Amino acid sequence: MSLSLYKQKRSFKDTPEPGPKVKSSKSGLKFVVQKHDATSLHYDFRLEMEGVLKSWAIPKGPSLNPEDKRLAMMVEDHPYDYKDFEGIIPEGNYGAGTVIVWDEGEYGSMDNEDKSQKEQEKILLSQLYKGDVKIVMHGKKLKGAFALVKMKGRGENTWLLIKKKDKWASDEDVTKKDKSVKSRKTIEQLAKDKNAKKWTSGKKATRTKSSSKSLVKKTAKPILLSERKATAVKKKLSR
Ligand code: MN
Repeated sequence: MSLSLYKQKRSFKDTPEPGPKVKSSKSGLKFVVQKHDATSLHYDFRLEMEGVLKSWAIPKGPSLNPEDKRLAMMVEDHPYDYKDFEGIIPEGNYGAGTVIVWDEGEYGSMDNEDKSQKEQEKILLSQLYKGDVKIVMHGKKLKGAFALVKMKGRGENTWLLIKKKDKWASDEDVTKKDKSVKSRKTIEQLAKDKNAKKWTSGKKATRTKSSSKSLVKKTAKPILLSERKATAVKKKLSR
């Protein structure tokens, strides 16, 4: 699958996020849910399929209650290595803000977990294109069956994440478990952590306030780099 949109939105000399490389796990499909304190707080729900992470942004985060239907906006594919990313995306970059790995683990295709990884991936991809993905999660916080359902007539990217009824269903608020499963830090603690992964090279990020303003005026310039910067600036201003 293509990571071109992921690549287009980022400048890898300015962000600590991983580069656009396609890669798959050897055993067991992986998932990650990252809590991301950007312009607005949300949870990024990502499922490994065909060497990339299929991704949805969930404003309220996942719920274990089958009665909750959580809005999940599909976003661009992310590279496989993104599942381990925890750190601070510097100001001026796409998605600027702090990211923690809120949950991670393996997942499988519902009712097909006895099949091989390849076969499960094939089923999952066909469900993805049909807009009805049924999965079983084996995370530290998220466990059991979930469905991701595409909403009809609501544009291309609007989905819902719904917990299926099983022994893991519960009405406890799972987002209250707010620590990273990697660092054990909350997003607030990581934001203050001086050792958090961020851009600290001698080269300063070039996007100062004044250059942002001039970039907006240059939006029409057909140069890839300016376009990328302009998109980032426009995104920032529109949020
Ligand atoms: Mn995000």
